[in-house]
Amino acid sequence: MAIKESEAFVLMTYPLAEADKIVVLFTRLYGKIRAVARGARRPKSRFGACLEPLSEILISFYERESRELVALRRCELFCSPFERAATPEGEAFLHHVAELVDALQPPAEPHPPVYRLIRATRDAFLQGASLPALAAYFEMWMLKLGGFFSPLEACAACGKAFPPEAPIWIARDGVPRCARCGPPAGGHMILASLRRLLAEMLTRSPIEWSSLPTPKEAIQLHRLLTRLLRDVLERELKTELSLNV
Ligand SMILES: [Zn+2]
Repeated sequence: MAIKESEAFVLMTYPLAEADKIVVLFTRLYGKIRAVARGARRPKSRFGACLEPLSEILISFYERESRELVALRRCELFCSPFERAATPEGEAFLHHVAELVDALQPPAEPHPPVYRLIRATRDAFLQGASLPALAAYFEMWMLKLGGFFSPLEACAACGKAFPPEAPIWIARDGVPRCARCGPPAGGHMILASLRRLLAEMLTRSPIEWSSLPTPKEAIQLHRLLTRLLRDVLERELKTELSLNV
């Protein structure tokens, strides 16, 4: 029975029996794991306030062969996004980020760029970035890191580079097409202004990028990207942002 250690983001928890919790974590070294936190539902649990969504913690755990669940032994809080999460909008945002990581990351596969993306997004969240903009940034990068978002430079059907001012189409699998080749079935249109903003995401940090779109553009991008995520996941998302900006 080996003891392992890693930094981790808490994604979600579920009650287990009378006093325990199952914790879904995205760890830096081992990817997504499910752990049992014994006694975590008791008022004076040793896990304290560590198990809130998107808290970054240092964990140690036992791994047993033939068991899908590991046993959480100890955790130490590095950074809690709680201050800003005290609002309903902030809380909804953190649950949304956690849901996307859980939905798009397979179990037990470390993914350092995803870990860094969550950390940078959490930092921008704490620095007061606009939430629809930050959500759109996170969604595009999760799609891209999952291999579901192609560069929006040339039409996949005719191969021609997109003219800078033309709207384009993006198919349900993320492949782009020009207006002449026509909209793919169930595809989504992207205006030139939004395409420029998407391209800017590739070169900027979340906090820098979040100040670029207007509130309306941020919401349009967030809506477009959640539709693409729904297509990829083939289901509705459970979490929704409040978009009263
Ligand atoms: Zn074309």
